[in-house]
Amino acid sequence: MDADIREALQYCPNLPSMSDVAMGIVELGRETEVNTSGLAALLSRDPAVASRMLRVSNSPLYAQRRRSRNLQQAVSVIGLNGALTLALTFSLADSLRQAPGSARTIDYVWRRALVSAAASRELGAMLGRRDLEELFLAGLLQDIGILALEAALPERYGKLLVVPPAHDHLLELEAETLGCDHGEAGAWLMRYWCLPEYLPLAAQGSHDPLGMDVADSERFQLHCVAVAGRVADLFLGVDHGADAAMLADRASRWLALERGEVEALLDRLPSGFPELERLFETRIISHRRAAGVVDQAREVLAMRSLQLLDHAGEQHRRSAELERNTRLWRETASRDPLTGIHNRRYLDERLETEFARAREHGWPLVIGFLDLDYFKVVNDRYGHPVGDSVLMHIAGLLTRHLRDGDCVARYGGEEFVVMLPGADREAAEAVFERLRTALAEEVYTGEDGRTFHVTASIGVVAYSGDDSVLSTAALVRAADRALYRAKEHGRNQITFGELDD
Ligand code: GH3
Ligand code: MG
Ligand code: MG
Repeated sequence: MDADIREALQYCPNLPSMSDVAMGIVELGRETEVNTSGLAALLSRDPAVASRMLRVSNSPLYAQRRRSRNLQQAVSVIGLNGALTLALTFSLADSLRQAPGSARTIDYVWRRALVSAAASRELGAMLGRRDLEELFLAGLLQDIGILALEAALPERYGKLLVVPPAHDHLLELEAETLGCDHGEAGAWLMRYWCLPEYLPLAAQGSHDPLGMDVADSERFQLHCVAVAGRVADLFLGVDHGADAAMLADRASRWLALERGEVEALLDRLPSGFPELERLFETRIISHRRAAGVVDQAREVLAMRSLQLLDHAGEQHRRSAELERNTRLWRETASRDPLTGIHNRRYLDERLETEFARAREHGWPLVIGFLDLDYFKVVNDRYGHPVGDSVLMHIAGLLTRHLRDGDCVARYGGEEFVVMLPGADREAAEAVFERLRTALAEEVYTGEDGRTFHVTASIGVVAYSGDDSVLSTAALVRAADRALYRAKEHGRNQITFGELDD
């Protein structure tokens, strides 16, 4: 981006701005130990955001039997990380909508933002991703640069904005007159707001994700957001035929999606629009019009698949697909099918890596084995399916109570392992006590309506990073012995193991 444009942005007095609550959320997200009550306290300052959170947690997106009546419950349904992102989404949505600028531009950007966000989330769900709230937010903010440029360069930029702007045409004009595009401007603004880096990256790569030099782990979000933008063009543009062809091409090139998958996406998406319209108090597109767009797109896709794809495109698609399958396979092989959390195979590998790293640098490392108490009784009394759902619930609960760098896995049966890289004994005491209490407090209901609790015995070993321990096997043995002692001493308790005992 040219210096003069950056300067215009930097000194622009009326850029879209972020609310205090949004800033608070960003800060909270950076803390190492986020707690639900901190988030709830922050959100109580913005009742509109809080009530939307509640509403989302009770919506079909988070299909569940119990209704959340307060924020704490909503956060536990959505998960802490997801809730933070969602709270940020709702508060930034307000910044977007209340941005200074012409009503027509805001209306266009805002509607495109909502469709992109929904499409990005849906694509993530289709492809088995877990970062759905992040995908939604990244989709939502990808065009915020249009608002920033309009505010900073009202004369020069305003001329380019014919409404509804055809996205590609707008990009060409931007390149010609400004030498940059609104993706870069949006990325600049989001970095200025100190938003997490995946958001500016997604905006920057929203028009040409393959041109971005990013880590593999970040690539999916970029591609997903970029394809989502094309979905929005299809629903909101005027030339549905051309937009459908463009979408099919980009979806195949960037996400290795096949025709059937694109069709499934287009079929599913509009049914979520009414809820989105209610939630964000905006009209996106009428039901009839959306259905018309989908029909027309279907025809274009059918035609397109009749024509022979050009050779290079097909080759590219194949290799992208191969890569995706490998990735999916790797991901599946490391997950436990019942609970979706990592399995023993993954844990074993990860433990080796973390241990080697800890030993090399002298960093501490904690592992804890959790074995549910009298779980056989749960199965016997309430049935195996209820036992299964308890296991799933506990997996979710453990995941929600841990930080990103921590690792939780189902080791087998009713046994879980939690690994905390970088944590010392004192930190471990706090973390495992929190987990133990959270597990014990949870109330389950059997099919006959009887309620029950499930506790866990926990054996923990804290490795200090010294040279005396030679292998992960020694850690596992010590944690296992500690677990047995916790069982012996009455269960529902934590016992620390000594490495040399
Ligand atoms: P303790 O407190 O000594 O650990 O008692 P326990 O009953 O939990 O221990 P035990 O190891 O005897 O039994 C484990 C039970 O966990 C038995 C088995 O049916 C149940 N279990 C293991 N895997 C699954 C599963 O995938 N689903 C269900 N529903 N139950 C499982
Ligand atoms: Mg057991
Ligand atoms: Mg057990």
